Amino acid sequence: MKIVFIGPPGVGKGSQAKRLSADTLRPHISMGDMLRLQKMKKIQGGKSLGSFIDCGDLVPCEVVIKFLKDRIFKEDCRNGYYLDGFPRTLKQANVLDSILAEQGDFLDFAVEFYIPGTGNDLFERIMSRLSCSQCSETYSMKNRPPLREGFCDLCDAPLLRREDDTLSSFRKRMDIFKKWATPLLDYYKEKGILLRFNALNSIDETYADLLKGLGVQKE
Ligand SMILES: [Zn+2]
Repeated sequence: MKIVFIGPPGVGKGSQAKRLSADTLRPHISMGDMLRLQKMKKIQGGKSLGSFIDCGDLVPCEVVIKFLKDRIFKEDCRNGYYLDGFPRTLKQANVLDSILAEQGDFLDFAVEFYIPGTGNDLFERIMSRLSCSQCSETYSMKNRPPLREGFCDLCDAPLLRREDDTLSSFRKRMDIFKKWATPLLDYYKEKGILLRFNALNSIDETYADLLKGLGVQKE
């Protein structure tokens, strides 16, 4: 099953995708994590990636597509994967479709998480968010604090606030999301593969809705 996860910053789509990945044994591919990792490694293209990550701008398409192709053709993706943070634009959605079509393949679902009303809830969520400097596991001081303050439950490495989790970056990412998401979501809606989930509920409730919507049984 190949799914793309779409939603505004802070909606929790990464956590949902990660959980689904653990329960169904298909990889969660977070474009944001991949790009942040590349930035830390300071390899080629570091400059343009840096500006994307710090300011919330869109990465040049060709850089992202290269990462994407390298990743989804790996062996562990044979039974499907969950893409998070890509595609962000209609153009990228078309690119993804043509990459898949080359393999005689197609996307099963586009999953959208949304929160009704203003962006205040989202911003609050973002500001309480921490992630592991080693394994990129995410925590929330509000909803899911680590067992030991400041350190990862899984690997004991220090937790950090993401550099792009600031009010100005949030606003910028939110504006970008609003601008690009509508045509993207319309595209998947027309294809008949869009599933929408209200993410205002707790993480557990939203996850239960997701499983039900996808028709996935959890043992
Ligand atoms: Zn960790």
